Amino acid sequence: MIELYRPIKERFGADCLFDRPASDFTTYRAGGPMDVVVKPASREDLAWLTAFCLNNAIAYLTLGAGSNILVSDKGLKGVCALTLKLDKIVIAGGALTAEAGALWDNVVKAAVEAGLAGLEKTSGIPGTVGGAVFMNAGAFGQETFDCIESLEVMNRSGSALVLKKSDVSYAYRKVEGLEGLTILSAVFRLPAGDGKALAADRACVLGKRAEKQPLDLPSAGSVFKRPSGDFASRLIDEAGLKGLRVGDARVSEKHAGFIVNGGKATASDIYGLIKKVRAEVKAKTGVVLELEQILLGEFE
Ligand SMILES: Cc1cc2nc3c(=O)[nH]c(=O)nc-3n(C[C@H](O)[C@H](O)[C@H](O)COP(=O)(O)OP(=O)(O)OC[C@H]3O[C@@H](n4cnc5c(N)ncnc54)[C@H](O)[C@@H]3O)c2cc1C
Repeated sequence: MIELYRPIKERFGADCLFDRPASDFTTYRAGGPMDVVVKPASREDLAWLTAFCLNNAIAYLTLGAGSNILVSDKGLKGVCALTLKLDKIVIAGGALTAEAGALWDNVVKAAVEAGLAGLEKTSGIPGTVGGAVFMNAGAFGQETFDCIESLEVMNRSGSALVLKKSDVSYAYRKVEGLEGLTILSAVFRLPAGDGKALAADRACVLGKRAEKQPLDLPSAGSVFKRPSGDFASRLIDEAGLKGLRVGDARVSEKHAGFIVNGGKATASDIYGLIKKVRAEVKAKTGVVLELEQILLGEFE
């Protein structure tokens, strides 16, 4: 352990891990060693950690379920906080408040069970509330920001503040105004719906995911954003790239928009395949695909 990190270990004990592979914390199940991974169980702990890193010039990053990232095989320097222990969900009237580490699908399920509409089509997205907000995650025509009322965020010195929806600019899988901030919680204002219809919608979406997506293999969902007026998966399929491989990474035969890890893929395999797919699609269709997933650490 680097001496600089000793106070973190003293404060977090077993919830502070050193040199663990990114594959332990990401749904791609790939990537190199992460210097320090911490799982804060309270806001006070999270505030202490971000301030400690700021004061000691340590690189700091907040992650949720690691379901939209690819970490380099060279790993990540500095401290990474996982929010998963901050997972409270409270419903009061039409307002659902969820902490950043709550699993998104648990939030959707709670809303549906309470007869609240607006999130049901996003059933099955495997990340956390923090990740969903940061990415403006969405599916089947619904997006995280559709029903957001406000967000609670923390700056690097550990101070919390509330942002209104209008303080943030958002679009398809793109959010501006949260850079350098840790999302603590989000409030969703949800209209009352028909409980039975909501539950049926949820079941239908979960069924479609199981039918169309390679949920049995590690991935991070759709690799590329939807190009205007088209689908990345359609273009990749049309270019004949289903099954294309680099090392143990391959374009899913079930859903061309996904790259799956056959079990032993490195982050370099996955990254190499991303580049190959992009180049082939550009050559065959003229469309330049934009990455939806986030690359962390050094590539190339
Ligand atoms: C099988 C599968 C299906 C998927 N389907 C969909 C889909 O239908 N629609 C869709 O939009 N996505 C989908 N995804 C991608 C992914 O699940 C979403 O983007 C999800 O919202 C990411 O959440 P996360 O907690 O895993 O974020 P992470 O991957 O941990 O992080 C993503 C980004 O968010 C930032 N972040 C996370 N938490 C915080 C926080 N508390 N404060 C500040 N920044 C934070 C991270 O720093 C990082 O930059 C899918 C992924 C898989 C594996």
